[in-house]
Amino acid sequence: MKNITILGSTGSIGLNSLEVIESNPEKYRVLTLAAGRNIELLLKQIERFHPVAVAISDQELANTIRDRLKEDLKTEIYWGTEGFVHLATFKEVDTVISAMTGAAGLIPTYEAILAGKSVALANKETMVMAGPLVMDQAKKKGISILPIDSEHSAILQSLQGHPREDLRRVILTASGGPFRDLSIEEMRTVTPAQTLKHPTWNMGQKISIDSATLMNKGLEAIEAKWLFDLRMDQISILIHPQSIIHSMVEYRDGSIVAQLGTPNMITPISYALSYPRHIETSLPPLQLDDIGTLSFEKPDIEKFRCLHLALKAAEMGGSMPAVLNGSNEIAVDSFLKGKIGFLEISVLIEKTMEAHKPFPIHIIEDVIEADAWARNYARKLLPE
Ligand code: MG
Repeated sequence: MKNITILGSTGSIGLNSLEVIESNPEKYRVLTLAAGRNIELLLKQIERFHPVAVAISDQELANTIRDRLKEDLKTEIYWGTEGFVHLATFKEVDTVISAMTGAAGLIPTYEAILAGKSVALANKETMVMAGPLVMDQAKKKGISILPIDSEHSAILQSLQGHPREDLRRVILTASGGPFRDLSIEEMRTVTPAQTLKHPTWNMGQKISIDSATLMNKGLEAIEAKWLFDLRMDQISILIHPQSIIHSMVEYRDGSIVAQLGTPNMITPISYALSYPRHIETSLPPLQLDDIGTLSFEKPDIEKFRCLHLALKAAEMGGSMPAVLNGSNEIAVDSFLKGKIGFLEISVLIEKTMEAHKPFPIHIIEDVIEADAWARNYARKLLPE
């Protein structure tokens, strides 16, 4: 029996994780749940899963939960980063599903690793910002970090049974997002609502915008670099609009091993929890004869500047990926609030990166400093 903490239980990954846990009651048990601000849903989850503790982002929300909790429920309630860390390092927890959005997930995830917990990682920002520190600590603690990201799960699966020295490169596939066929001129006027409509995946707001700008693929390339100990020149990006091949590994004899599946997060979540086994899920089998055609094309990095910037930040290393990530979070939030246009997302990030003097990352505080600097700088660039 695995005792599980979910950081981000009310988001898209959190809900799918609860579904996987609920269909395998003999294997997994929800021990603690952490959410951002959605108390209505968290209250329902408390009634359904009876976690021993929950955490929410601020004290006021924590008090509301306390007031509304049914008397017979003994769930402890915590709040803020301290609360999230408390849940992530809870003594009886075996695996932490890290599925909070953005940099907010960094500290709780890092503390979970320091506490020797296995991590199932959906929060790619943690790896982008602090990849070398995270991998170093994971090695020291002897714990595994298993990806809850369809591409990285595909790479992990495609690596099984193949000697590592035979690897030539990995090929990360990307759907291309909702604006793959638009011209730059047409992209100038797209609205947040259009941007949130992803053609193949149903996801949260932040990752949907990142998918439309292709920043998501850039972040995933950086995540892959650290997770699988690759050089950036061993990572290729390929547009594959059907999102059926989730990624591939090419070996030096020319063989390419791919993992295919329905575009649904249930599979990578299930694999991260049951690794190296594949267990039953509720998903219907993939019908390739219904899909008919799988197509591929090169990504256009002139049109999708965010992808270019992410690859550049990865090459520069040190604090630059954290700066890329921090300024992207400000840019995405500003776009969602209608403060800037879609194309200005990459402009804001590029200006922030240009102004940053990269420094080496030795300790987690270096990452936090780079992140705070980037957010502050990017905010000053926003229109009044
Ligand atoms: Mg992905």
